[in-house]
Amino acid sequence: MEALGEFDLIGKYFTRPVKRAVLGIGDDCALLQPAPGMQLAISSDMLVEGRHFLSTVSPQRLGHKALAVNLSDLSACGARPLAFSLALAMPRAEEAFLAGFAQGLFALADEHGCELVGGDTTQGPLNICITVFGEVPPGKALLRSGARDGDDLYVSGQVGDARLALECFRGSVALSGDAFERVRVAMELPQPRVALGQALRGVASSAIDVSDGLLGDLAHILQRSGVGATVEVDAVPRSAVLASQPTALQRECTLAGGDDYELLFTAAPSQADAVQAAAHRSGVAATRIGRIHSSPGLRLVDARGQSVPHSFGSFDHFKS
Ligand code: ADP
Ligand code: MG
Repeated sequence: MEALGEFDLIGKYFTRPVKRAVLGIGDDCALLQPAPGMQLAISSDMLVEGRHFLSTVSPQRLGHKALAVNLSDLSACGARPLAFSLALAMPRAEEAFLAGFAQGLFALADEHGCELVGGDTTQGPLNICITVFGEVPPGKALLRSGARDGDDLYVSGQVGDARLALECFRGSVALSGDAFERVRVAMELPQPRVALGQALRGVASSAIDVSDGLLGDLAHILQRSGVGATVEVDAVPRSAVLASQPTALQRECTLAGGDDYELLFTAAPSQADAVQAAAHRSGVAATRIGRIHSSPGLRLVDARGQSVPHSFGSFDHFKS
């Protein structure tokens, strides 16, 4: 079969008529028209083979995850997705890969009304960089800097399964086939909390998405807000599969796992009902896992209120 050229592959796999954007693929720039008065929210995330994903992942799931991690950033800011661009480097133009990748990518894009409007394609080691564009009412974006003394700390969904899956791939943990498939889905098909992020506008005081590990990402909120926190480690929600693992592994996965793409956020106690209403409307759980205090630092306690020693770091691409 004749190798597919750059423009043929863009035309065949990535070009679709735009519905909301003014202009999509095919010109030197795409044109977006945010609703009048709205602010643009912009974020980029890159996925590099061997660093952000394993070669064992299916192209379809890779397409999903590449967009999911970007939509997660929009969610953390409470923004509504509008459009995205895709910069793609691949060793070869393999049609089986491209077809699966595009399928996973567009399935998630369509679910959130987020259109592909442009990008770049080149030959090279597999590397996927997506930039997402969203909109948010002026002054309403959720920021890392808004946590205040006395706020409750919440996390959406469950955390830790993606890390447990990674440990299985590394061979340090063995699970039954069924349990492994379940945690593998958490790692390869994360669900960005797009509806929850928007529902938390005006309710949460600060937010971040958990990509590098819960405590590491919490540290960003604490630092930017100039506050400290106490986290109830046993209250952090986890799956039944993870809950059947040894305590130390549960804590490592839930507190320092990474790749969770859940929302970690704070809200004043007076907003507790509003938080639960937002979670209910969004079809995802929000669990209170601790409290913000004005004294700096991070304290971990167990279910009996005893201090839990910790040395959990955050994932750092230049240190690990
Ligand atoms: P330029 O040379 O002006 O940067 P290209 O020739 O690289 O543009 O791309 C042609 C068109 O295809 C542009 O509209 C660009 O945005 C789009 N495009 C290129 N690669 C991709 C991709 N991977 N996904 C979506 N659109 C792409
Ligand atoms: Mg150009």
